[in-house]
Amino acid sequence: MTFDIPSGARHILQTLNDTGYEAYLVGGCVRDLLRSVEPHDWDICTSARPEETEACFAGHRIIETGLKHGTVTVLAEDESYEITTYRTEGPYSDSRRPDYVEFVSSLEADLARRDFTMNAIALGLDGSLQDPFGGEADIQAGLIHCVGEPNQRFQEDGLRVMRALRFGAVFGYEIEEKTAQAIHENRHMLEHVAAERINVELCKLLVGGKVGDILRQYPDVFCQFWPELWPLVTLEQNTPWHCWGGWEHTIHAVEAAPPDLMLRLTMLLHDIGKPNCKSTDENGIDHFYGHPAVSAKLADQMLRALKFDNRTRERVVTLVEHHDVQIPYRDRSIRKWLGRLGPEAFFQLLEVKRTDGMGQAYELVKDRLAELEKMKAKAEEIIAQDQCFTLKDLAVNGRDVIAAGITPGPEVGQMLNGLLESVVNGDIQNERDKLLQLLEIESISDRYRYGRKY
Ligand code: ATP
Ligand code: MG
Repeated sequence: MTFDIPSGARHILQTLNDTGYEAYLVGGCVRDLLRSVEPHDWDICTSARPEETEACFAGHRIIETGLKHGTVTVLAEDESYEITTYRTEGPYSDSRRPDYVEFVSSLEADLARRDFTMNAIALGLDGSLQDPFGGEADIQAGLIHCVGEPNQRFQEDGLRVMRALRFGAVFGYEIEEKTAQAIHENRHMLEHVAAERINVELCKLLVGGKVGDILRQYPDVFCQFWPELWPLVTLEQNTPWHCWGGWEHTIHAVEAAPPDLMLRLTMLLHDIGKPNCKSTDENGIDHFYGHPAVSAKLADQMLRALKFDNRTRERVVTLVEHHDVQIPYRDRSIRKWLGRLGPEAFFQLLEVKRTDGMGQAYELVKDRLAELEKMKAKAEEIIAQDQCFTLKDLAVNGRDVIAAGITPGPEVGQMLNGLLESVVNGDIQNERDKLLQLLEIESISDRYRYGRKY
């Protein structure tokens, strides 16, 4: 088989080979070439020691940040390439990182330290594959398979649990039986993994095409770092709106969302507060009054625990909090919500509501789904027409309010917000002259009220 390899990578392999060292492409790029997917980075492994690699590329820009793990980064033809000396890893006594890394001379020993067979294949410049663990066959079979004994591999590094699930969700591969069993048995190893590292894998996993299958098969793993999920996983809901329990509804909602991180996170967490809010009426029907606010609070806590950035956390919390609000299909309501949330979050909320509907009994929600489509078109029209729905769209500003005689201070803001509300409601038009007139009247009545002279 011939592979499309960038000339910068070829140059590096050739240079190392010409100097008498072994050098191969390895890891994710070889796996992706075999999957017929374009690799996003090109890692190289070599028998050369780091200082020998540096000597080979004396004329190139070199970055030494990974040197203590044996990695030299070389810039060739505007691309950077990580070149890592063959190495094995010592024991993982803190379950976080190996006690030491040791440079070795055997490619196979280097491949043996890697997590899954599909990630443990090396590709030489001549197009030959070094594949001692059967990775190519596993790729063809669509299988995620540990290199070596699965229990031991997950005990060395708990992050591999999340990496397996991530590859499962993104590639749609099955997780081989012993590997799958070891994932369940060793999920507690995630306790030793930094939240930031779990976060990276979770974000990739959530936007994967097969995220639903992974959530369905491995709820115990997700509960390991987010114990708040457990009550939802076991939640039964007897309501005319839902044909599934809490977890299955959540999974359908996540699957129905577009592959966008904020939307997928929102759907994963939108009903997280339901178990706390459950009540059953005299007819045996369950209710979950007030669950969006409780869900928002729990979502905030969970996203903080996993060190999400503020922007993602705040937006997801807003969307969770409002996922159930009823927005009437009227221009003024749409303008009000556009102003309150901002257009970006408003359109995300419509998407969240559409997606939530897809996870409910379709016959009962189909009218609501159709209305959401109309609402989206109407909001787009409002924006295209430059209609006013925020203070910055208003035809007057704070200076006008003060010029009209209102005392500088909080009253200025109150006055502007009052005007905005009237404009959004459609009671007055957003025209400067009309608004200035109104300000004048307000200012006079204000001065009467406070007994001031004018
Ligand atoms: P991606 O496409 O997301 O980059 P990747 O498999 O290339 O996936 P990297 O984090 O870039 O992931 O790692 C490069 C290679 O290093 C992997 O293919 C694998 O061989 C090895 N590797 C990475 N993380 C681990 C780990 N936690 N345990 C063992 N080997 C690992
Ligand atoms: Mg990679």
